Amino acid sequence: MNMFGTVPERLARNHFDLDKDECHIEVNQSLVKATGVGKLLVRICPAHVYTEEPDGTISVEYAACLECGTCLALAPPGTLSWHYPRGGFGVSYRES
Ligand code: SF4
Repeated sequence: MNMFGTVPERLARNHFDLDKDECHIEVNQSLVKATGVGKLLVRICPAHVYTEEPDGTISVEYAACLECGTCLALAPPGTLSWHYPRGGFGVSYRES
């Protein structure tokens, strides 16, 4: 921990404006299954946006996305459709 608090404490200060009309992350389920990248998405997302369902599909809780881009950098081409949320929506980072 540093003078700003623990990482969970610092992340809890963030503010999220959810775009209820548009999800900024879409998963190509068949390609994710074919490439086996689902478990990687579940593991690498710091916000636990991705969950592997019992039937093997990957669900997306986009409201929690920190917009770090890690999933987009690591996912094979075509498995994810990802863009920043529309203007005015998404995460706002706060230090105090
Ligand atoms: Fe998770 Fe970052 Fe991808 Fe958002 S951009 S879903 S926080 S890995």
